[in-house]
Amino acid sequence: MLSLEQLSQTVKEHLGLNEFVDGIQYTCKWTIDESPLGGRGLIASEDIMPGEVLFVDRPLIYGPRSGANVEQGCTVCGKLDSDTSYKCDKCSLLLCSEQCQNTNIHFNDCGIISRWNINTPIEDDNSNVLSRSLTPIRALMLNDDQRIFLASLQAHRLPQHGAEIRNLKQYYEIPEEEEQLMLLACCALDTNAYQIATAYGKREMSMRGLYPVSGLMNHNCVPNTRYYFNGDLQMTVKAVKPIRAGTEIFSCYSGILWGTPARRTHLYKTKHFLCKCDRCSDPTEGGTLLGALKCFSTECSGNLLPIDPLKSSSPWRCLQCNMRVPDENVRAVQGALGSLMGSLNFESVQELESFLINRITKYVPKTNQIVVDLQCRLIWAFGEVEGYRWHELSESRLALKESLCRGTLRTVAALGVGDAHLRGLLLYHLHAALAERARRSPDLYEEIKSEIESTIEQAYIILQGDISAPPDLELRRRYLGPGCDKPQEERFFILDA
Ligand SMILES: [Zn+2]
Ligand SMILES: [Zn+2]
Ligand SMILES: [Zn+2]
Ligand SMILES: [Zn+2]
Repeated sequence: MLSLEQLSQTVKEHLGLNEFVDGIQYTCKWTIDESPLGGRGLIASEDIMPGEVLFVDRPLIYGPRSGANVEQGCTVCGKLDSDTSYKCDKCSLLLCSEQCQNTNIHFNDCGIISRWNINTPIEDDNSNVLSRSLTPIRALMLNDDQRIFLASLQAHRLPQHGAEIRNLKQYYEIPEEEEQLMLLACCALDTNAYQIATAYGKREMSMRGLYPVSGLMNHNCVPNTRYYFNGDLQMTVKAVKPIRAGTEIFSCYSGILWGTPARRTHLYKTKHFLCKCDRCSDPTEGGTLLGALKCFSTECSGNLLPIDPLKSSSPWRCLQCNMRVPDENVRAVQGALGSLMGSLNFESVQELESFLINRITKYVPKTNQIVVDLQCRLIWAFGEVEGYRWHELSESRLALKESLCRGTLRTVAALGVGDAHLRGLLLYHLHAALAERARRSPDLYEEIKSEIESTIEQAYIILQGDISAPPDLELRRRYLGPGCDKPQEERFFILDA
């Protein structure tokens, strides 16, 4: 285990902070130190302003995610469903083209795997064994310094981690030392890895990366940072609100719009801790009521919330009639809601819309995370998905998109998550709905012009440089943002394209 000082030195080298670029040596406004939560964390050493870049991390290792349902793609570029994809005849990894086969990435992967003797050939119904293990396999390429860095990261050494390697061992003879390093990598990945975002609307294999500095940030359900990826696997971490010197820098390992019971269960199952942050301690979550259920009394229209949200066995109580409900009954309802959602076809916008409008609010309050999630899905779909594109969108759907954007932005503001990625996306979609309204009724433009300009400008500030940002973000800002001197007719031509 590295001491704090050695770890700080390793991190500085990893981030290139010791190098001079164009005569400037980049420094950072944080240090690695003991966290009040226990263990290590990143602590601000100076006041940090919203929007400031805290660091740009790159992965020690990256590759396909290990989930059994992750769709397999080219192991070099991530391309999916290519008719031309084939398996390398030396190592059996999936590839999309000779171009990808001839890369260093494949040369290295291939060198390791083809060296192992095969015990049992991999059958077709188990063909994802290699893809699921590829990320930890890539740990075998790390040099000595990188291996020390890997070993110094926090890792849960529990039996459920590393299943992909135990599975792989049924097919290959793997030297003990290599197996141990891959198991360590699995534990470090499960504890620290981030899913790597792909380009907006593009279907690619889902990948994860072990970003060691990002992994040092502890979790908070209201993080003070956001992160985004560029096309070169770099992960930029920025402040989303003011961070005072001496306070801890947090990331969020869970869904921002999930209610407390869902977040805490997910964090416990995947990261093995029970979050006790301010948001988790507040039953109403800043008044958003994301986890609330309907009162079980048919005469009451109140909301049920846990009495002590930090205790998973806590009874729930209605805010209006004070009825108490034991946690088993609450869990039964949550389970039934889970099954109900599992039966939905999320690909069908029509089905989601009718479920949202006609059914779900019979079972849960309008503030519940399930409703909020469905609302977001409609926001993303309206204007963009086949059958619901701008020219096909009815007036009522356009109005619905606008009001859903405003409502979700209020929820995001109430949570206090600052300029989170989600806020940027919602502002972009609100802008797009307003711009479409002005295109349809040019007389309205003067009235809503300033909001069209400010929403795209704020969205741009939050989403610029992010590979998952909408591709027309910059174009929209140029034509519909503040300071554009083009006449009204010309400003909207981009929407007709
Ligand atoms: Zn490829
Ligand atoms: Zn190969
Ligand atoms: Zn929390
Ligand atoms: Zn009640």
